Parts: sequence; C-alpha cells; structure tokens
Amino acid sequence: MSTDQLTFTNPVERFASISPPKQHQPEPGLESEMEPQPDIGEHNYRGTGRLEGRKALVTGGDSGIGAATAIAFAREGADVAINYLPAEESDAQNVARIITECGRRAVTIPGDLTDASFCAELPGRAAEELGGLDILVNNAGRQIAGEGLASIGDEQLEDTFAANILSFFRVTRAALPHLPPGSSIINSTSIQAYQPSPKLMDYASTKAAINNFTKGLAEELAPEGVRVNAVAPGPIWTVLQPAEGQPEEALPEFGKKTPLGRAGQPTELAPAYVFLASPESSYVVGATIHVNGGQPTP
Ligand code: NAD
Ligand code: MG
Repeated sequence: MSTDQLTFTNPVERFASISPPKQHQPEPGLESEMEPQPDIGEHNYRGTGRLEGRKALVTGGDSGIGAATAIAFAREGADVAINYLPAEESDAQNVARIITECGRRAVTIPGDLTDASFCAELPGRAAEELGGLDILVNNAGRQIAGEGLASIGDEQLEDTFAANILSFFRVTRAALPHLPPGSSIINSTSIQAYQPSPKLMDYASTKAAINNFTKGLAEELAPEGVRVNAVAPGPIWTVLQPAEGQPEEALPEFGKKTPLGRAGQPTELAPAYVFLASPESSYVVGATIHVNGGQPTP
C-alpha cells in the first residue's frame, strides 16, 4: 500500500503493520535513527487552506506527533514555531526544512520545559518571531517505562510531572496575553489517561491530569473566545517508544493489540489537531478526540 496518496482506503492497510526490531536510544532520542522510519506526513499530508495566516507554537514539534502536526499546520497555511530539547536539533531542522518548503515561516526554539523560567519566556519568543500567536499545541512529553511504583525514583517522578503537566500550566499561562479571541489551545494526552499501564504509572497520571486541565481551562476561556481541547493518541510509532518508553522486547508487538491490528503513524494524528485548531470546530470546547486504532474509552 502506497503511503503517498490518501484515497478510499481500508484503515487496516493504510499503513503496514510494522514489527520494529529491538532498538534503544537514550531519551529523548532522534527520529532520524529509528527503524523503521515513522511517517510524519512529509509526502502525504495535503492542505486545503484551513489555517491560512495563523501562527502556531507546537512543543515537541521536532519529531513524532508534534512534527506531523507542525507539518500539517504549515501545509494548511500557518507559520509555525517548534520547541524541542537542544539534543534534538537535527530532527528540528528537518521539520523546519519541510515547513519552509511549504512557503511558510519556521521558527526553531530549543529549550527544556522542565525549567519554569524557560516555560515563561517560550510563548513570548514565539509570538515575537511569528508576529503573533493564535494556536498553542502543548505536546511535549516524556515516557520512561519502569517496573511499578517501587521503581519510580523521585527524580524520575518529578521530571515526568515537570515535563508533562507542569509545563502545560506554565506555557499556557505565559501564552494567555498573546492569544486573541478565536485562538485554539490543544493538549496531547493519551489512552494511558484511561487505561494506565503499571509500567507507566507516573506518565499515565500526568496524562489524566492533562485531561482534567483541558476541561477546566476550556470552561474558563470559552467566554473569551479561546477554545481548549485535547487529542488522546493510542500506540503511535514515534521515538518516544524506543527511547525508554517501552521495554525493548515489547517493540516488535507494539500496537498490534488494537482493533486495527497495527500501530498508528504520526501523520494519522495530524487531522485531529488541524480540526481542533481550525474555526470549523468553533463549537467544540473541552473535548478529547481519540485517535487510538479503536480502543474503547469512557
Ligand atoms: P516524540 O518523542 O517524538 O515527541 C515528544 C517530544 O517531547 C520530544 O520530541 C521532545 O522534543 C519533547 N520533550 C520531552 N521532554 C521535554 C523537555 N523536558 N523539554 C522540552 N521538550 C521536551 O514522541 P511522540 O509520541 O510524538 O509524543 C508527543 C506527545 O504524544 C507526548 O505528549 C506523548 O505523551 C503523547 N502520546 C504519544 C503516544 C505514542 O504512542 N507515541 C501515545 C499517547 C500519547
Ligand atoms: Mg523528538
């Protein structure tokens, strides 16, 4: 099955059911080193002008779901700033190249979201370089598989909460003065918010917190014309998984237990983010879109 064209297609077969070989990278990992390479939509996402003139900040925009979202936003007509860790510069430059080839502006802002002062300055820097800001995608996250509660040390616990949920509070708070009515905030949560794996208890807890944060903030900001929603991915083939996110021996079977029988590709997430960013979803507030291959959610 070609991945270049989006024609009438059986979703079971749109992408191959991959069996990734065992592999390991230290977190956050580089997408360029993965086997097989994930599909972030460079060759298949077609835009239709749905975000013309918009200005977006995507955290974790160098790879995986954030990269697919940043590329789709650019193809839909938006200028895009991406944030990522300094070690991910080469992945970030690849995404910036694709955005620029769409004729859109790409701004790269490396920095660590576990640092509160960096969170406070990130949205202002994006707004300054883009000439405004009206889409914020809180997407960065870390996932380190362990062996249950006793294996989760304090440093691991605090880093995961700082990166995955405290940064969402801090970055969004700093973005508020920049976001005009009509703006959209989209948070990346997870199936883990509903079906926590004992190997990922700290991670799963942050994802449940993101859902709650999304609904509370949506209620606060709706009267001001700013919509807040979330996307909850299932098992998606991204570098998060081989960079400590799964036990190595679990990789060959990754995603095969879903009703579609395969892992998702990052590009399959992008339309959900585009929909929530676009004015077409004007009456969608405080919602979570599940993109998980058919796993039941509440
Ligand atoms: P990814 O590794 O490609 O992207 C995650 C990004 O988070 C990294 O590229 C990195 O830039 C960023 N990040 C992590 N720690 C950071 C820090 N301290 N400071 C700044 N940036 C930091 O993996 P992905 O799967 O595309 O992850 C994107 C989001 O999707 C995450 O929130 C993840 O929890 C969520 N998610 C992924 C899956 C999946 O199966 N891949 C499933 C559910 C939810
Ligand atoms: Mg990355």
